[in-house]
Amino acid sequence: MNVLVINCGSSSLKFQLINAKSEEVLAKGICERIGIDGRLTYQPEGGEKEKSEKAMPTHTEAIQFVIEALTNPETGVVNSLDEIGAVGHRMVHGGEKFASSVVITDEVKKAVEECNDLAPLHNPANLIGVAACENLMPNTPMVAVFDTAFHQTMPPKAYMYGLPYEYYEKYKVRRYGFHGTSHSFVSKRAAELLGKAYDETKTIVCHLGNGSSVTAVLNGKSVDTSMGLTPLEGLVMGTRCGDIDPAIMEFLAHKLDVDGVMKILNKDSGVYGLSGGLSSDFRDLTDASLAGDKKAQIAMEVFSYRVAKYIGAYVAVMNGVDDIVFTAGIGENDDIVREQVCSYLGYLGIEFNTELNKGLRGKETELSMPGSKVKVFVIPTNEELAIARETLELVRK
Ligand code: ADP
Repeated sequence: MNVLVINCGSSSLKFQLINAKSEEVLAKGICERIGIDGRLTYQPEGGEKEKSEKAMPTHTEAIQFVIEALTNPETGVVNSLDEIGAVGHRMVHGGEKFASSVVITDEVKKAVEECNDLAPLHNPANLIGVAACENLMPNTPMVAVFDTAFHQTMPPKAYMYGLPYEYYEKYKVRRYGFHGTSHSFVSKRAAELLGKAYDETKTIVCHLGNGSSVTAVLNGKSVDTSMGLTPLEGLVMGTRCGDIDPAIMEFLAHKLDVDGVMKILNKDSGVYGLSGGLSSDFRDLTDASLAGDKKAQIAMEVFSYRVAKYIGAYVAVMNGVDDIVFTAGIGENDDIVREQVCSYLGYLGIEFNTELNKGLRGKETELSMPGSKVKVFVIPTNEELAIARETLELVRK
């Protein structure tokens, strides 16, 4: 069965068509500038990337163009819509309602809508993507895969904030965590590499991308993660500040309005802000650091230091660790960050293979020496494949 995986944002729609049996990506692409003008980038497996301008007033037109591209007699990869057996939708926030993926029904859509408050930018866009697909493929089963679901196993001591309990009861203010699909995918693979049963492992996954989070996975379950009610908490990220003293909000609010403060914390902070606005991209920061730029060096050091602090905390909450995994854009590609993070972890008995680490990009690798007490892995994440697998499993049921 072929599964169409959709990741829908407010003005963009990423897609991959995956053969769920062979796990081969048949085609992928993105619709951008939906509601503005519209641009489709489409690439069939082994073929050239094609870009075209197309009017996309809404997501329905975008999906229509995706289907046309996939079924195009020359560059398409399927003959008709009938060859798309199911659609898997990435959903950002499932609140406390979804602890696993589900087949989409009217009830599910209503429940997701009830979580809109918790992710006002993402959930409505995800639902628009579902509606657009339903319009064009009314008989194709669809599955929702939530970013938050994997973390629903966190115990109250990990998810409760030190706030009055009534805010949890009334407004569901608590920690949820994100990147769950990636943390789950990567930690499962890590157990295979360790040669242990998934439910007998202590793994710390560092998903370091534009948005970054660390998760403690104990016996196959997320027991703590660094993101909170929103993705702003935790690590210092590309442009997000991560953990800060909440009183900084008031301090800044005296100088700016609330929207201004939130823009600073979400878009102007992180390594971008720390580097004096140089870049949020670690390729630029690495180049600048190596050329002697002090702010870029500090930005990278702050980033790695915060990751190491979270690892230390999660070793404590799990009473040990078997392996530490680096994944996502920075984790898979940035050897300097990996080396900086691991430089704090010698006390765990990690023997880090500095030579092997150097220049290693995007390849599954064991980065610790053979005798290392705790293993270190680079495992490329693949959220689309994880969504396709979940979708297939649920549709088969
Ligand atoms: P997201 O999915 O959150 O947008 P990704 O996981 O794709 O993010 O990560 C994107 C980030 O990965 C980039 O902003 C950049 O900092 C980093 N990155 C990508 N390639 C490299 C590389 N070769 N070296 C260092 N960092 C890289």
